[in-house]
Amino acid sequence: MYAGQSVTLTLTDSGIAELVLDTHEASVNVLNAHLQDELGQALAALGTQANVQGLLIRSAKPAFVLGADITEFTELFGLSAADISRWAGKVHGLFNTIEKLPYPTVAAVNGMALGGGMELALSADFRIADTSARLGFPEVTLGICPGWGGTVRLSRLVGAEAALGWILSGKPVKAAQAQQQGALDSVVDGDQLLDSARALLQEAIAGERDYLANRHRKQEALENNAETAAAMANLQQTLGKKLDPRYPAAPAILATITAAMTEDFYKAQAMEAQVFGELASGVEAKNLVGLFLNDQYLKRETKRWAKQAHPVGRAAVLGAGIMGGGIGYQAALNGTPMLMKDINQEALDLGISHAGSILDRSISKGRMTEAGKEAILAAIHPTLTYEGFTDVDYVVEAVVERVDVKRAVLAEVEHKVSENTIVATNTSTISIDLLAESLQRPDKFCGMHFFNPVHAMKLVEVIRGSQTSDDTIATTVAFAASMGKTPIVVNDCPGFLVNRVLFPYFNGFNRLLMDGVDFERIDQVMEQFGWPMGPAYLADVIGLDTMVHADKVLEDGFPERMGHDDRPIIETLLEQGALGQKNGVGFYEYGTDEHGKRYKRRSEKVATILSQRVTRSTEITDAEIIERMMIPMCLETARCLEESIVASATEADMGLILGLGFPRFRGGALRYIDNLGAAVFAAQVETHAECGPLYELTDGIKAMVANGNTFY
Ligand code: NAD
Repeated sequence: MYAGQSVTLTLTDSGIAELVLDTHEASVNVLNAHLQDELGQALAALGTQANVQGLLIRSAKPAFVLGADITEFTELFGLSAADISRWAGKVHGLFNTIEKLPYPTVAAVNGMALGGGMELALSADFRIADTSARLGFPEVTLGICPGWGGTVRLSRLVGAEAALGWILSGKPVKAAQAQQQGALDSVVDGDQLLDSARALLQEAIAGERDYLANRHRKQEALENNAETAAAMANLQQTLGKKLDPRYPAAPAILATITAAMTEDFYKAQAMEAQVFGELASGVEAKNLVGLFLNDQYLKRETKRWAKQAHPVGRAAVLGAGIMGGGIGYQAALNGTPMLMKDINQEALDLGISHAGSILDRSISKGRMTEAGKEAILAAIHPTLTYEGFTDVDYVVEAVVERVDVKRAVLAEVEHKVSENTIVATNTSTISIDLLAESLQRPDKFCGMHFFNPVHAMKLVEVIRGSQTSDDTIATTVAFAASMGKTPIVVNDCPGFLVNRVLFPYFNGFNRLLMDGVDFERIDQVMEQFGWPMGPAYLADVIGLDTMVHADKVLEDGFPERMGHDDRPIIETLLEQGALGQKNGVGFYEYGTDEHGKRYKRRSEKVATILSQRVTRSTEITDAEIIERMMIPMCLETARCLEESIVASATEADMGLILGLGFPRFRGGALRYIDNLGAAVFAAQVETHAECGPLYELTDGIKAMVANGNTFY
């Protein structure tokens, strides 16, 4: 009946039409503009056919449909809210056509049905899935709502509360749960799926199943009475409390679904399309879609490097401390047997017991078995000697952050391994070229900078020294990816990318403190802005000793910008014995109260020290605090791009998001400048010129203002 590049429609002898989704030369089906066109054409062909008894919708790929084509969103989301709503309305039209067919329809869902894929499945009268299928609506993670009828049909089918559970979490639901909630009519083994779907359709054709009742259930509104109003108000209250107002999609979804439950089906669809247009034309959706595309870009880059990587069969880590222990665990967890060497037996014992406690947590969450734990621990071999090092393909050095110690350890290990072994350092700040001076094979040396805690933080900065070979970078990127991490390749400089841009932010913080601005207020303002923690709290978490140490490296590296006229406040706090969370005293005091509850409270000791050092008091607005904190970080990120420390705006922004917890909905430092507009950003920078050289525009941004260019 119809044959396109993605959609075919055939009519069997028994009068069943089969609509098969199978995008040519692609591994998955996505509902892109082309597939939508073909679906429209196939439905038009179906409409002209008189002798059809029923329709089966299925996929010939390993998954049903993965959703809309997110690469099309960048252009689409540049349209007005009204135009985007109209775009959503067109697809509503297609799915409504399926739902109005004068015979029963069945969707056979294999593998995955996400977003638009689930909405297509919901347009059918019956849904049958295989046991491995996952169904869901990830739209909220992109700052939008389902826009092709998902909020309306799912909420009428399974109830507003269950539908909100799916849509607000953005997480896929397993087939069994979906069936239990009423989103699926049947779940069968994968090899039974098509036969069962055809049998189900035959039963409906024979009148043994009431397809019109099923259809009606997806469309029927709740009665508009006091009981419904109370139930919806209750949902708004209980679920609303848990939502982060900085991410507008979730509150909008909650408001729309609860308001539309009593509305006519088509009115509810129009409400959904309108909210979709409003969200999609907003800045958060643009940022979050940008982030998704950035992530795809990083995955492609990793794959490109991995093609020339050498396999890492066995590896070693030097140092079993916070970082070495974490690196050993993470590699073993992902299948690489590890030697873990330290000079101290206690450190080795601690490293292993730390790995054990992370695994115990996984066991308690049902994600790991005892046997799995034992196998992973058996893959970590603690040692005080270099025995076995001749057989490792890769060594990560994670000993104390001291140039002399690192140089000695690196030179020593180079003699214990084979000529082909790559040696990397996990230093957070020391120049790779400086450390390479102690090595015979600097081409086989690079930085592999993990973040703390290693098991939780996604980013690994892979740092290329001036003599590092491409092979070394490729193998390091692939090794990091094999540990489940996201590697970003950067060039060598003090602090590399992430710490180089973090310390200007802390310098901005220091200057605000010196101007008499309260640290707790700064924390509140920056947390409100979107950071997971404000700068004072973050300094405590990092540790004030580590902070001062790294700050000195950055100060030496970039004295013209990062040098201090006066001793930084954190140095004074450190001199007075404040280490941050590690000894319970930093900007805040940390401990456990008499009821066993952990507390974090403002440190009066710090207040006294500050009052002795700071004599000024400045009237400042929250907006000015944000500007003074963000400008040095954004400018330094732009400098890293201009100096080719990082190759692209995409990688720079992803480094900040994954390594520093930069607010995701803001998309990264360079996206932040783009969103403000270079001219507005430049004007802001100029108003803070008296704050010093960290507040001077870069040549690149001056050029962007002149040419109207953007980072993205
Ligand atoms: P740590 O003090 O917890 O651990 C260092 C370990 O190295 C100790 O167990 C020590 O016994 C061992 N060690 C010292 N000399 C050694 C030698 N010659 N051979 C083998 N082991 C030796 O330190 P850490 O926090 O794990 O930091 C390690 C490295 O990682 C540093 O370069 C640090 O800058 C970097 N780093 C730390 C963090 C962090 O947040 N802690 C984050 C990123 C990178």
